[in-house]
Amino acid sequence: VSVFQNVPQAPADVIFSLTAGYKADTHPQKINVGVGAFRTDELKPYVLPVVKKADAILFNDASLDHEYQPIAGQPSYTKAASKLILGKDSAAIQQGRVGAVQTISGTGANHTGAAFLAHHCKGSGKCYISNPTWANHRNIFEGVGFQVEEYAYWDPVTKGLDYKGMLDAIQQAPKGSVFILHACAHNPTGVDPTQDQWKGIAEAMRARDHFPFFDCAYQGFASGDLDRDAWSVRYFVDLGFELFVAQSFAKNFGLYGERAGNLTFVCKTPEDTKRVLSQMEKLQRSEISNPPAYGSRIVDIVLNDDALYAEWKENLKYMSHRIIDMRKALYQHLLDLKTPGTWNHIVDQIGMFSFTGLKAPQVKVLIEKYHIYLTNNGRISMAGLSSSNVEYFAKAVDDVVR
Ligand code: PMP
Repeated sequence: VSVFQNVPQAPADVIFSLTAGYKADTHPQKINVGVGAFRTDELKPYVLPVVKKADAILFNDASLDHEYQPIAGQPSYTKAASKLILGKDSAAIQQGRVGAVQTISGTGANHTGAAFLAHHCKGSGKCYISNPTWANHRNIFEGVGFQVEEYAYWDPVTKGLDYKGMLDAIQQAPKGSVFILHACAHNPTGVDPTQDQWKGIAEAMRARDHFPFFDCAYQGFASGDLDRDAWSVRYFVDLGFELFVAQSFAKNFGLYGERAGNLTFVCKTPEDTKRVLSQMEKLQRSEISNPPAYGSRIVDIVLNDDALYAEWKENLKYMSHRIIDMRKALYQHLLDLKTPGTWNHIVDQIGMFSFTGLKAPQVKVLIEKYHIYLTNNGRISMAGLSSSNVEYFAKAVDDVVR
């Protein structure tokens, strides 16, 4: 008998199987709004022009080799990444209370932060994730031994934030729980708290000594403004919270497959920061030994060069504005078609995704009759729409909701 005879079959990953279905489909008007990756208006993957320039610099740099990186990553990279999220004048950075480790993109940053907390600061032992959230949050936090609970987030009636439900959950959670908060461009809903709501959330979190774990996968990609997208994190830091921020450079640098990420941690004192960093490095050593070089070198070059940094911001504006334009176009088509229901949420939501409110049976028709691939929860990636397919998409939606 096999050692593996009792290993159960795991379900296929929803997003990756959707893409497989899309690829196998030969219909000329097929659309993939499942996967969250940016596409140009020609629906092609996008290599940022600034990334091409950084690539050329790397290519011509004869001093580079393939030696191991430091365990926590290159300090020039991790420092620039922390500065990016916390702000160039961050008091916490100046006070020496900020540390970081380079991670395997945002997923690795979530995992490293989760594993660290599970080992050293388990608090109530409960971790709260939004309902709904990025599917990996549950996997990652359960995987390291947290009991994962959900806090209310999406209100299907208003198609906006269930602010009261969220506050109730924060108040009712046992003291010292971990709360995963999406810094901006909430995945999958595209609904973010307003600044006033963030203030209420912070106050409720503080009253219960909860630990804020920000997940920031879309800085600069959401609004096109790096500072605006970092507002929530900086606000919590200004209030004196200790916290983690998982950063991903997959979307905002288009470095999906290069796995460049960072875990920034803000502590109370430089002494705490030093000890935390030492344990992060110990953890990192056993998990990946040291992080991959290529993607982080590109980010390092761009973040540490004024001219390239300015150019990156232009590239970010292009990506975020294309997404915002598609929201407007889809909304306008639905209005023109007099599609039943309210659709203003399409333009009110922000970031890569829109939670359309479409139900699973409607999604089924979209896939089978219209060859439009999206997840059962009605989430669409705006980047899968273009000036050439948005009308076809709107007509299909119009049909399934009638
Ligand atoms: N968190 C959230 C909420 C995300 O949407 C994503 C990207 N899908 C990530 C983290 C991290 O992705 P990656 O590991 O590719 O950086």
